[in-house]
Amino acid sequence: MENIEANFDEVLRKIEAARLGADDFNIINIVGVSKNVSSKDVNELYSIGQRSFGENRVVELVKKSDELDELPIEWHFIGRIQTNKINALIDANPYLVHSIDSLELALNIDKRLKLKNKKMNALIQINSANEQSKAGLSLETAYETYLDIQKQCTSINLQGVMCIGANSEDRNVVKKSFDDTSAIYAKLKQNGAIYCSMGMSGDFEIAIGCGSNMLRLGSALFQL
Ligand SMILES: *Cc1c(COP(=O)(O)O)cnc(C)c1O
Repeated sequence: MENIEANFDEVLRKIEAARLGADDFNIINIVGVSKNVSSKDVNELYSIGQRSFGENRVVELVKKSDELDELPIEWHFIGRIQTNKINALIDANPYLVHSIDSLELALNIDKRLKLKNKKMNALIQINSANEQSKAGLSLETAYETYLDIQKQCTSINLQGVMCIGANSEDRNVVKKSFDDTSAIYAKLKQNGAIYCSMGMSGDFEIAIGCGSNMLRLGSALFQL
């Protein structure tokens, strides 16, 4: 508990410093990524004020949201969406799904949402560093695909973009991957985009400098 509290304090201090250095009108949302910790740890961070948590596996999202059913937590889904898990994901009622990475997937989700008479808030994931190991739309197709999903998938409420920063030691390479995503987000604001989800424990200060307003933080919060 002491560790989680100390981590939280330090993270908040760093976010605030980065925010004031970049754009002090920007409100930064924090998603606590709980994929490597227990519901008990989530509960501890909740008890000192954190309300949004994220999981990257549907099974784990369902398990933790069930276990913490009593708490008004906003659950985010940040992982790859397998076709055979779409129904379970919809049934888990996530607050925001960060990882729609193709029109085909969006159409598939939309079809099932309509059958269940439900809606879903979501972001498109952009593979801005063009890395083979990562999911996401290319920088070249992201904007058009966003508009296509908006037009064709009326049960999905698109709210912005997500990216994972470039996997590089070079700060400028990481920054470029965030700047490129941020530029697409800026264009999409006129189409209703409100979230730019970028920045993890190792690179969130860079992401804030590039205009992120939603950080996904795991180890920085939960590591002991
Ligand atoms: C695990 C994960 C995070 C959090 O990573 P940390 O480095 O622990 O902060 C953020 N986003 C995604 C998509 C993840 O899978």
